[in-house]
Amino acid sequence: MNPTAAGPEILLFRPPVPPPPGWEVPNLYLLGRQEVTLVDAGYAYAQAADDLLAAAAGRPIVRIVLTHGHTDHAGAAAALRERTGCRIVCHPRDRATLRRRFPELEVDQEVREGDVIAAEDKRLQVIDTPGHAPGHIALWIEEEGTLFTGDLVTGAGSTFVGPPEGDMVAYMRSLDKVLALPAKRLLPGHGPLVPEPQKRIQELITHRRLRELQIGKILEKGPHTLGEMVETAYGGLIHPGLKGAAFITLLAHLDKLAAEAKVGFQPSGAKPHERSYFLTVPTPLPY
Ligand SMILES: [Zn+2]
Repeated sequence: MNPTAAGPEILLFRPPVPPPPGWEVPNLYLLGRQEVTLVDAGYAYAQAADDLLAAAAGRPIVRIVLTHGHTDHAGAAAALRERTGCRIVCHPRDRATLRRRFPELEVDQEVREGDVIAAEDKRLQVIDTPGHAPGHIALWIEEEGTLFTGDLVTGAGSTFVGPPEGDMVAYMRSLDKVLALPAKRLLPGHGPLVPEPQKRIQELITHRRLRELQIGKILEKGPHTLGEMVETAYGGLIHPGLKGAAFITLLAHLDKLAAEAKVGFQPSGAKPHERSYFLTVPTPLPY
């Protein structure tokens, strides 16, 4: 069944064509009665625009709000804009990403923290939630307690946060920010819908906190390079194909701990893989 109901006048649509290897199927949302506001457009494939128009069932698609500029969320936007003339809406900080990945895509409207996008009678408040991507936004319907979280909070697993685009300090701050909202349901960018928002957000915060405690435990034994930390943190258990992602994830945490003056590294000008990291505070790491 595609699309399926995800809330009052909100439909969830998942592209029926499998994503490129290594990508997860995104959740796209169609809002509205007479006309459709789309939250994210999904990846590009030959029939993407046809499939989205079929999901809209004859109603015009008037705008696409992009939670961020990644390929699996924004890839089909250009084709759909060309077919329908719909407006493309995003945060200004992700325009550079969009321009680089999709030079043919025009952005029609920039939105920032506190802006409200009117999708018929639904008021989508823009919440600035950088971290996974610099211009990542969440969309909050206060009247319904519904939060579209993009990749800030996924329905399962954890979110990839990798420098230089990803920023762990900003990501953790964004999680705290949405934890404070009285949300009743999260409509995430991937995975199942989230009926218990606070529990899920707290789970993600705890997951990151445990990773930092693990880094603290490793560095307690002495200085380590990133490569050594990946080996120790994941043991022999990590698939060779995932080592790169593990490396970048640990780097994101170490950048955060360095920014908080809990971890230092030598030599100071060295590239990440050449650095030797050490603790500058006693463990367990203060939070
Ligand atoms: Zn993403």
